[in-house]
Amino acid sequence: MSTTESAALFARASGVIPGGVNSPVRAFNAVGGTPRFMASARGAWLTDADDNRYVDLVSSWGPMILGHAHPAVVEAVREAALGGLSFGAPTEAEIQLAEAIIGRVEPVEQVRLVNSGTEATMSAIRLARGITGRTVVVKFAGCYHGHVDALLAQAGSGVATLGLPTSPGVTGAQAQDTVVLPYNDLDAVRAVFAERGSEIACVITEAAAGNMGAVAPVAGFNEGLREITREHGALLVMDEVMTGFRVSPAGWFGLDGVAGDLYTFGKVMSGGLPAAAFGGSAELMSYLAPKGPVYQAGTLSGNPVAVAAGLATLRTADKAVYETLDANAARLVGLFGDALSAAGVPHRVQTAGNMFSVFFTESPVVDYETAKAAETWRFPAFFHALLDAGVYGPPSAFEAWFVSAALDDDAFAVIERALPAAAQAAAAAVQ
Ligand code: PLP
Repeated sequence: MSTTESAALFARASGVIPGGVNSPVRAFNAVGGTPRFMASARGAWLTDADDNRYVDLVSSWGPMILGHAHPAVVEAVREAALGGLSFGAPTEAEIQLAEAIIGRVEPVEQVRLVNSGTEATMSAIRLARGITGRTVVVKFAGCYHGHVDALLAQAGSGVATLGLPTSPGVTGAQAQDTVVLPYNDLDAVRAVFAERGSEIACVITEAAAGNMGAVAPVAGFNEGLREITREHGALLVMDEVMTGFRVSPAGWFGLDGVAGDLYTFGKVMSGGLPAAAFGGSAELMSYLAPKGPVYQAGTLSGNPVAVAAGLATLRTADKAVYETLDANAARLVGLFGDALSAAGVPHRVQTAGNMFSVFFTESPVVDYETAKAAETWRFPAFFHALLDAGVYGPPSAFEAWFVSAALDDDAFAVIERALPAAAQAAAAAVQ
């Protein structure tokens, strides 16, 4: 497999873009080698600048549940673009997207559209602080909620991949107002509420964690967060940027039915363009400007082209799409597990709905500490053997793998051919 063009583009990019990438998770820092520069994508397949084809198991980090360049989405985008790229004034399509979200996630009665998941979580915690008049935010180690100052402490995703405890540039005051607890540990939550309950504006959690790898909430965890926050007058912010409209039509809420006060969405509801949202009951959302005093705004929020892509994606994602996503994930989990077992390497293929991750350990991974305790040094060999054989996975042991409904027999054949050697490479890896 030639990577000459990608290597040349990476060298050029590194001169004008820090680290050569516009989001650290795209770099190959944790696995080594040259990030592949993509030229096009269709269905389940990516084509890079050297004309190599890969089965895509990243799906743009989640959004592309229908596969790439789905005709219904592309047509909706084309039509919207022909009608004008941005108005800076409201449109009917924004109402339709809001209605599509509200119609799926019962606890949400109103949403405000924004441009990224980061904006959604930033705005949700500002709103939670504005409503409660309190300052402290509780988050969980290994959860990632975008690069919001207050939420970067012990964050997952790229922060975990690069092994950063937090980020310079986040002030002491911002960090002080954030309490970081171990995921899936209700005793820790109870203890902090017993001590500081009246200061806590909200608990923000990934409805199911995907940013330290796929780590589902243990039975009763989300329910416990619901009870404790309610008891103390704090809000529960369910971050469904990753799980929303992916793991079920109603996201993780559709699987466990635990209602948060505020929700954040992104990825799938954007159809792959920059759009995201946060929402909650009409009462809580009425605190937002222009109705209420909590300010939040955006020049391009509700952009007509992004809204068209999101709406077309949600409308196309019918029952059959979700069944296919689940079936594809289950099939891959089986294939990955079989290959790793055959190679005799300690592993767990963990799932959170139809998201999954490979952890090189035999112990259950329930939080960031147990995720870090896995033999992550085996991951680069596994990743590169798959990549060389035409399977594009996330370049980090701390990320979820995302299926699309577009995975077909050809794609599965490539994966099945690639897995034995990749599993053996993981088994043979040395620390
Ligand atoms: N919240 C979660 C759970 C995420 O997974 C992400 C991104 O991966 C974000 C928030 C931030 O979204 P964005 O990258 O669109 O800013």
